[in-house]
Amino acid sequence: MASTNKALAELEKIVQLFSSKELPEMCKQVFIKNVGPSRRWSLGNKLVMLIHGTADARGYRQWQEAGRYVKKGAKALYILAPMIRHKKVGNKETGQEEDVEFPVGFVGIPVFRYEDTDGKPIEEYRPRQIPPLLDVAEKFGVKVEYGPTVLGEGGSYNLVTNVIKLSQENPDTFFHELAHKAHSTFETLKPMQDPEQETVAQLSACVLAKLYGYDATSFSWNYIASYAKEKTPEAVGKLCMRVLSQVQKVITLILDTHEQEKVRITA
Ligand SMILES: [Zn+2]
Repeated sequence: MASTNKALAELEKIVQLFSSKELPEMCKQVFIKNVGPSRRWSLGNKLVMLIHGTADARGYRQWQEAGRYVKKGAKALYILAPMIRHKKVGNKETGQEEDVEFPVGFVGIPVFRYEDTDGKPIEEYRPRQIPPLLDVAEKFGVKVEYGPTVLGEGGSYNLVTNVIKLSQENPDTFFHELAHKAHSTFETLKPMQDPEQETVAQLSACVLAKLYGYDATSFSWNYIASYAKEKTPEAVGKLCMRVLSQVQKVITLILDTHEQEKVRITA
């Protein structure tokens, strides 16, 4: 069966993965992400899904039931499901025939990635708590979406589509992406992860988090340190000093925009 062969090919990729360093990172994602029917899948099938760059894959009908449709031209990926046969077996004690289920092998099931679907937003992706300063994103004309991210990152800001995507609810992740947006209004940003840009975003996020009663200090230090030349207070401090004026501009812009919004609403 063609679909079973496709599924077996996926299995082979997983076996390769088991002998690489990528596995712990992927496993971490498997256990963090918990949306859709795939949360009940086997670890192997979840890995197949992650290899294909999604944290939510479902069958064609399952997407329909969720109010979404699979986009034209989207390719299915295949997971393995046990094939169950039913057999009548005589029970010696009762003398009756009983229906017994037994597995007879595996069959490949086609599923589609969330990224290849469109339609109603997925309810499970909505945050339980709206982050502070969400009004600023609206004022900037940025669309904020919650959902699984391909690489398992906490969030991203897409300069081209003007969309902030978040896979976690902590406000400092949102602040970080909002800071990228604010930064882009007065400087041309590089499309890739850039040490100075990341420092501007994280330092701003750290300050905004403090203002709103969250502590992101140690996370921020480690984040900036990962972009600094060395993981030392001196190197991190130097990097922060280089971007201090941008950070000040970003924070001022965000807070001023927030204030303006409030005046507009209450007026
Ligand atoms: Zn960033």
